[in-house]
Amino acid sequence: MRRDAVPKEAPVSMRIVPLLALAILIWLVYRIWRNSRHDNTRRRAPGQKTTEQVERMVRCAKCGLHIPQHEALRAGERFYCSPAHRDSDEA
Ligand SMILES: [Zn+2]
Repeated sequence: MRRDAVPKEAPVSMRIVPLLALAILIWLVYRIWRNSRHDNTRRRAPGQKTTEQVERMVRCAKCGLHIPQHEALRAGERFYCSPAHRDSDEA
């Protein structure tokens, strides 16, 4: 009947190990979820400054608006911001 001899750590660690495993699992899931979410926001971010800064800006020959070259409409050596401006300037 020596109750004090029973190690107290055994039942405590038995309870902590599954909790720890669960915590690690939640942390991993959270990290993966956060990473995928971060990738999505990066891909969908409207202000992709680095791309826009590298992108060459061109001027609309009709209204003078500056737009990235990949968004501009090209007609010969001139660039336009919209099909309407391109058509009206050509006409
Ligand atoms: Zn324009």
